Amino acid sequence: IEVNSQKKIKTTCSYCGVGCGIVAGINPQSKVSVEGDTEHPVNAGMLCSKGMNLHYVVNDVSDRILYPEMRWSRSHPRERVSWEDAMDRAAAVFKSLIRKYGPNSVGFYISGQCLTEEYYIANKLTKGFLGTNNIDTNSRLCMSSAVVAYKKTFGEDSVPISYEDIELADVFLIAGANPAWNHPILFRRLEIHKEKNPNVKVIVVDPRTTASANFADIHLPIIPGTDIILYNAIGRRLIETGKIDDDFVKNHTENFLNYRKQVMDTSLKDAAKLCGISVEEIKEVSDLIGTSKGFITMWAMGLNQSSIGTDKNFSLLNLSLVTGKVGKPGNGPFSLTGQPNAMGGREVGGMANLLAVHKDLQNPQDRQDVADFWGVDQISPTPGYTATEMFDALASGEMKAVWIICTNPMVSLPNLGKVEKAFANAKFVVVQDISHRSDTVAYADLVLPAAGWLEKEGTMTNSERRISYLTKGINPPGEARADVEILCDFAKRMGFRGFNYTNTEEIYEEYCAMTKGTNIDISYLSYDRLKNEGSIQWPVSEYRHPGTPRLFTDKKFYTPSQKAVFNIPAQIENTSEKVSPQYPFILTTGRIRDQWHTMTKTGKVARLRKHYSHPVLEVNQLDGYIYKIKDGDVVEVKSKNGVVRVRAKLSKSIRNGVVFLPMHWGKQLENDLNRANNLTFTRVDPQSKEPDFKYTTVSVTKY
Ligand code: SF4
Repeated sequence: IEVNSQKKIKTTCSYCGVGCGIVAGINPQSKVSVEGDTEHPVNAGMLCSKGMNLHYVVNDVSDRILYPEMRWSRSHPRERVSWEDAMDRAAAVFKSLIRKYGPNSVGFYISGQCLTEEYYIANKLTKGFLGTNNIDTNSRLCMSSAVVAYKKTFGEDSVPISYEDIELADVFLIAGANPAWNHPILFRRLEIHKEKNPNVKVIVVDPRTTASANFADIHLPIIPGTDIILYNAIGRRLIETGKIDDDFVKNHTENFLNYRKQVMDTSLKDAAKLCGISVEEIKEVSDLIGTSKGFITMWAMGLNQSSIGTDKNFSLLNLSLVTGKVGKPGNGPFSLTGQPNAMGGREVGGMANLLAVHKDLQNPQDRQDVADFWGVDQISPTPGYTATEMFDALASGEMKAVWIICTNPMVSLPNLGKVEKAFANAKFVVVQDISHRSDTVAYADLVLPAAGWLEKEGTMTNSERRISYLTKGINPPGEARADVEILCDFAKRMGFRGFNYTNTEEIYEEYCAMTKGTNIDISYLSYDRLKNEGSIQWPVSEYRHPGTPRLFTDKKFYTPSQKAVFNIPAQIENTSEKVSPQYPFILTTGRIRDQWHTMTKTGKVARLRKHYSHPVLEVNQLDGYIYKIKDGDVVEVKSKNGVVRVRAKLSKSIRNGVVFLPMHWGKQLENDLNRANNLTFTRVDPQSKEPDFKYTTVSVTKY
């Protein structure tokens, strides 16, 4: 619509998985303004600091990549080239490498910020036509543990509940997450709910006294790595006090006896000691959960980013099963996705071990179904390299080329020393992105300018399975192109049929057709409906279907037995490293309120940089006294893997023995001694292959 010569467009915020609705104003000079969409079911007009400053990012094009750049060899600088030359070279190199070393020598590393159509095309191109499953996403770094846990518990990767359940619940257990900073609008809904209903109780489990913990009725500052012990102890207390749902457990779950056995193995007293909290706290939390009418768990990276991340997820999900609090209004386990379309990527199978529409890569019939749909002979049964494996394979020479879309691994992956070696050893690196502010661009042999938010159309799915249509409002600067255009152009130059789309909607419709008859069916959800009626939650399996806010209301799960499964953690404590006199602290990394990921967008906005202008290491005050570190001192942080030098911030808000460093800063913004991931290891959860960013032993000394 047009208001006072401004075009007004409804769209969705491009940052986090909350998925807030935005009304973008576009003036005749194509300058953009933003305001919250008061009619949107997620945010009702509210926006957080990142969302309300999104227009600054769009309007400032000074950092944008405007045309393709290429270098013919590593000893030459990159130079401007035409799209024609850029795409011809990309196709020639990929063809030659595949001919010489086979299809597994190449791969794509993409992003939870890609739109669903982009994810779908990249996945189809790689798995269907290049003949390799080497496509993974940076979502591997944030929620793959939750994906495995959902799949093994419910039979599919399906988030059962909705934001509207927040207003129906009375007990919330927030585990390893700081939604007050990282999912602010969702947290605001919880705050409003609690303000209106003082009986609502919020429990936060976190070694740090975060903004979320400050809001909570009960904060359990557990010792890092002991989460499973805590949730098992709560489970034990629920069983011992008879506060479990016998009917649900008996008729709708499997494997309860093994769960019972494991939780009974550790006394509450031992559990409390191991977690660094009191028995009374465990009892109080357990009794609140056991007597609640609506019990919701919310979790994020504190659980997922761990070498026992999937097991941590199991132990939390088991609390919903043992109390029968799933599939009912105001109840359920809610994994908070970090990125705006991490969920959409999961739907189209945009990971190395997944197939589209929740089909199983290990199932021959599922592989054939997908191959038939795409008109190819077969899909390789071999799982591709996951995010960290891909960079290991580049470093070892097993992989020769990587195509990176909309992500900045040179800051976000663990063990950056190794990532640097991987880039040095790779024969060909393509980076398709919007901004020169990405550290990864410096390592590219070919740089392709992509369109950003508001410069292209497509869809995304937020944390609660809500699909939104994102409108194109302005043209991209310079020669930048929509990502799907770039990928389809490449596919055609590779000689692949099946990429002759005339617009993005055709790609969306192809994906929708693929979902028909599955548990994520959106075969009747058109662009027109999304544009006219707004966002909607999958599945949407009939023409006028209103969407599905809640799954498993019939207590029938997607497992073969239709029962939910109690999965038993193989390991109950993170023992991947032990603190020692040489490395006496446990480092956890994470995000701060006003920055997003590696700051390529939010780092441009002066008012967002005011919150934290530099990275600081949060150190407990008592530790500061013991180690003779004062507030503001420059400290050297060392792990067995690398070094960081930053200023210390003494705080009461962190457990002694634990230090915290934000993960946002990279070389471009400061220097390479500010990067948290100099310190972290390529240590992953064996089931989800998600790296452990929350448990690195380090030393901290005044520099
Ligand atoms: Fe955007 Fe997330 Fe903030 Fe909403 S909560 S405005 S989606 S960053």
